[in-house]
Amino acid sequence: MDTSMISREQIIYLDNNATTQLDPAVLEEMLPFLTQYYGNPSSGYTFGAQVRRAIDLARERVAALLGCEPGEVVFTSCGTESNNAAVNSALQLDPGRHHVVTTAVEHSATRRHCETLSKRGAAATIVPVDGDGNLDLDELENAITPQTAIVTAMWANNETGVLFPVEKIAEIARRKRVLFHTDAIQSVGKIPIRLANSTITSLSLSAHKLHGPKGVGVLYVNKRCAFKPSLIGGSQENNRRAGTENVASIVALGKAAECANAALAEEATRVRAMRDRFEAGVLEKVSDSFVNGNPEARLPNTSNLSFAGIESDAALTLFDRHHLCCSAGSACRTGSLETSHVLRAMKLSPERTRGSMRFSFGRFNTEADVDRALEIVPNVIARLRELSPAQPVREKVVA
Ligand code: PLP
Repeated sequence: MDTSMISREQIIYLDNNATTQLDPAVLEEMLPFLTQYYGNPSSGYTFGAQVRRAIDLARERVAALLGCEPGEVVFTSCGTESNNAAVNSALQLDPGRHHVVTTAVEHSATRRHCETLSKRGAAATIVPVDGDGNLDLDELENAITPQTAIVTAMWANNETGVLFPVEKIAEIARRKRVLFHTDAIQSVGKIPIRLANSTITSLSLSAHKLHGPKGVGVLYVNKRCAFKPSLIGGSQENNRRAGTENVASIVALGKAAECANAALAEEATRVRAMRDRFEAGVLEKVSDSFVNGNPEARLPNTSNLSFAGIESDAALTLFDRHHLCCSAGSACRTGSLETSHVLRAMKLSPERTRGSMRFSFGRFNTEADVDRALEIVPNVIARLRELSPAQPVREKVVA
C-alpha cells in the first residue's frame, strides 16, 4: 500500500451520500466467507449448504430492515443494476406497454438508462420539480398513459436529500394500474421503511450507502408482482437474478442491514443534530449562503449549500488540503464540467448551481468533525471570495 495515503483519522468525511465507511462489525462477519467458507451455495453438500444458510440469514436481515418478506429480496451487484432491472422487467412484462414515467432529478442509474431505452424504441416522460426539488403529483399522474409500464421515482435525492412522497406516488400508480419502482438507495438506513402494507412494487438499495461493501445491492420485488430477470443463466435468487452469488458481500450486506436497523432511531436523531449544527453554523458565519432543496422534507444527514461568488470546484480543492471530503453535487459527476442536473431541474441560477456543495453526514461522524468543518468551510469561502476578482453575485432571496 502507498504509505503516503491519508488515513481515516486525518480526514473529515462529510460525503456519506457518495459512500460510507465499512462498519468493522460488517467486515468481521464477511471475512470468513472470503477465506474459510468458500463453498458454492448451490452445491448439495454441507460445505455449500452452510453458505446457503448464511445467504438466507442475510436475506432475513434485509427483509427486517425493509419490513418485507425474505422471499421478496433479490440480491444484485449494485444499486445501478437494481434500478435497471426493475425498469427492464416492467418493459418486458407487457410488450404493449413501452412507456416509462420518471423524474428530472433521478440518479444517472435511472436517468441515463431511460435515455438509452428511449433510443431503443421505448418512451420516457420526465416529470419536472419545483424550486425546492418537490414533485408535482398531478403532473406525474397526468404523465401516465395506457402504454405506461412503470413509474420510477427516487425516494430521497442523493444531492439535496429531498424526499419524494413515495407512498402517494405508489397509490397513484396502483390506481392507474402501473408498476411503481423507487430508488431508495439514499433512504435505506437513514429513514424508517415498512414495505409490508405498501403499494410500492419494487425498490432498490445499495450496501455501500449503509456501511456495507461496494458492489452488492438488493432489488425488492413485491411478491404479488411478476418479474422478468435481466440476467439469464442459473436459477439463483429464485430465478430472478442469475450468477453465482457474491457470498461475502451478501453476508456483509445482511450484517449492515442489521446494524442499520438497530441504530436507526437513535442515529438518525444524532446525525440530524450534527447536520443541523453544521448547517446553522455555516449559514451564520458565511454571508450569501443558501440551503438548496426543501428544508423540511429532507434526509436527516444531507445539507446542500450554495455560496454566492465562488466556484464549487475551487472550494473542493481547498477543502481537500484540509482533508475535508464533500461533493459538488453527486460524486459521479466530479471531474466533469457539467453542473448538477438536479439543481438545474430546480431552476436555480447558474451562479447558485456553480457554487453548490453537498455535505452528507453519517454514523461514524463525530461532533469534532462538525467543529473542524465549521472552521474550515467559512475560512475557505472567505479566502476564495478574497481571491476572486469578480464581486460575489448577490442573489435576491425570496423568503
Ligand atoms: N441511485 C442513487 C440515488 C445513488 O445515490 C446511487 C449511488 O450514488 C446509485 C443509484 C447507484 O448505486 P451503486 O453505486 O450501488 O450502483
